[in-house]
Formats: sequence, structure tokens, C-alpha cells
Amino acid sequence: MRAVQYRTVGRAPEVVEVPVPEPGPGQVLLKVTAAGLCHSDLAVMGWPEEHFPYALPMTLGHEGVGTVAAMGSGVEGLAEGDAVAVYGPWGCGRCRGCAQGKENCCPYAAGLGILPPGLGAPGALAEYMLVDSARHLVPLDGLDPVQAAPLTDAGLTPYHAITRSLPKLVPGSIAIVIGVGGLGHLAVQLLRALTPARVVALDLSGEKLELAKSVGAHEVLLSDDTAAGRIRELTGGTGAEVVLDFVGAQATLAVAAASVAVEGDVTVVGLGGGTLAVGFGGGLPFEVSATFPYWGSRVELVEVIALARQGLVSSHVETFSLEEAPTAYERLHAGKINGRAVVLP
Ligand code: NAD
Ligand code: ZN
Repeated sequence: MRAVQYRTVGRAPEVVEVPVPEPGPGQVLLKVTAAGLCHSDLAVMGWPEEHFPYALPMTLGHEGVGTVAAMGSGVEGLAEGDAVAVYGPWGCGRCRGCAQGKENCCPYAAGLGILPPGLGAPGALAEYMLVDSARHLVPLDGLDPVQAAPLTDAGLTPYHAITRSLPKLVPGSIAIVIGVGGLGHLAVQLLRALTPARVVALDLSGEKLELAKSVGAHEVLLSDDTAAGRIRELTGGTGAEVVLDFVGAQATLAVAAASVAVEGDVTVVGLGGGTLAVGFGGGLPFEVSATFPYWGSRVELVEVIALARQGLVSSHVETFSLEEAPTAYERLHAGKINGRAVVLP
């Protein structure tokens, strides 16, 4: 089968021929129908060789959707041809967090060598992918696979980030979304679907701000050094209750810190390498909570997919063939993807 692999640190991903994997006990083989490209893949491919944590070559892709092609012994509750989305942050499956479906917070996974598909384990950018357990599969129940693929991370991660701030997103509140790419354009829709907050979106180009508006942002702002001042004006000087930063660079964190209200939340989702000073004298208003959430729980993926099935969120996608995946990554790197790039193997 064909697969898109990161093979050598510092080199572009390559389309190669690899054997179709065979499912062992408890495992499920999926025929991949759609796989999303995430900016985190670019972050991983930017890590230096001396700190690179995964074995290479590695098949990329941690946003996978497919149909059940084969099952190992002991798999129950699935049938060949079932259309499913893959929950990616695999945990040990036994601890307290995993029992609650919060496998993204499993403290044992890394020590046990359990890694997410596309982030250590072979991923979804291939004709077939192996899933370690049927518990990682969420039925699509008729949802279009191209729509569904981005929901497994670009939808799930902002859903998790937003739901923890729901008590602050009351009528009259303001939510800021910095970076309206794959995750951000779904964050805007999730905020609109789940909260009465006024949504203000920031990005670098008119095209991205157009997308933000078209998916429901009330206000859009160019992300430059006037942005923090303009947010202060929009909020009558008090700042925003919740700031979600899908970039995480030093410059955007500075905007977040300058825009958040007393008692507000700063939620850093982007891996842009910036850091925020927490503590008296650090620049944040009193009582602010700052957090950096990772992906989301299994039940949250079920909920995001339910929202999409109801038509309350939809992924804006650009589609590519497997052979075009390296070009799609280049376009993502250049900031030229509007919404999410989705590969159809
Ligand atoms: P993306 O490339 O699709 O979107 C990023 C957007 O940010 C683009 O629209 C870009 O124009 C915009 N941007 C860049 N610099 C900006 C600036 N200074 N001000 C405002 N906007 C700016 O990326 P994505 O796939 O949506 O991922 C977003 C970030 O979230 C990445 O850093 C990714 O690694 C990270 N991520 C984190 C998690 C997690 O669990 N915490 C999960 C998935 C992705
Ligand atoms: Zn991701």
C-alpha cells in the first residue's frame, strides 16, 4: 500500500510503498477514507535529530477516518465496512483517566510505549491503518468522512479547550480566537454553537479573516501590534473573558495576556514555542487561569461528531490525493491552506 512517511529528520515527507499491516489480537485494520493534516505534524518535522522522540520512518497522520477492513481475534461490536473515526490520544486503557475516557491525560501511556497514530505509531496517511483497540473508534453514523476527519483533532482539541471555560462564556462575555486555521475555524463555530459569547477572531491575512467571518465570528481583526489595543476598545476596556491562542508564539501570547479580563482564561493550544509568565508581576490580570490543554477525551469526540451530524459545525476543507500530501504540507507550512487539508487515500 502507499503511505506518506517522515523518513529522515529535516527532509520532506515521502510517498512510499509499505506492506498492508495485519491486525493482531484486539486490533482493527481500517481502510482509510480521509485523513487530516495538522500543523503539529509540521512542528514534529521541525524537531532536531538529537531530541527526535519517535522511530523513523514514521507514517504520518493523526486525524483518521476509515471503514473496518479486518479485525484481530477478540474484537467485538464491529462489522466489516463500518465507518468510524479514530480517537487518537491512546492511553493505557486501565487507569482512572482512561476509565473516564480521558486517554489524552493517561500518565502511563508514554512509559508503556503507547503512542498516538501518526505521532509515534503508524498513522492515517496511508491506504490502511491499524488501530490498537476497538475502543478508539467512534461510529460516523452517516457523517461524511471528509467532514469527520478534521473533527478528530481540529474539532476535538478546541471543543475540549472551550468546554472547560463554559462557565465564563455567559451572555455578554467575549471570546478571542487567535489563529483561524484548521483548529481555529472550528473553534469559532464551537463557540457559536455552545455559548452566547461574542466571538472576535484574529489572523494574519484577509483570506483567513473572511473564513472566520463566514463561519460565525462577530468581529475579525488583523493580528498585528495594534490588536491588543483594539480588543481593549471592543471590550470597553475590561478585556475578554476567554482568550484561545491557536498559535502560541511569543507575540500572540503577549496579545492574549494584554487582552484577557480579570478572572479570565488564557488557553494556549498552539505549539508556537512562546511562554507566559504566571504570578504577581507577570503581566496577567488578577485571578486569570492559564492552561495548555492537550487534544481531548473520547466522550468529547463523540460529542463533537454529534454536533457535526446536527449541522452545527462543519469543516472547511481542501482535499488532496495521497501523492499530493507532501505538497499539501508545504502549503500548510506557507499558511496557504484555508480551513483543513484533508487527504483522500
Ligand atoms: P493551521 O496552520 O491550520 O492554523 C494556524 C493559523 O494561525 C493560520 O491561519 C495562521 O495564518 C495563523 N497565524 C499564524 N501566526 C499568527 C499570528 N501571529 N497571529 C494570528 N494568527 C496567526 O494550524 P492548526 O493545525 O490549526 O494548529 C494550530 C496550532 O495548534 C499549531 O501550533 C498546532 O501544533 C497546535 N495543536 C495543538 C494541539 C493540542 O493538543 N494542544 C492539537 C492540535 C494542534
Ligand atoms: Zn493535531
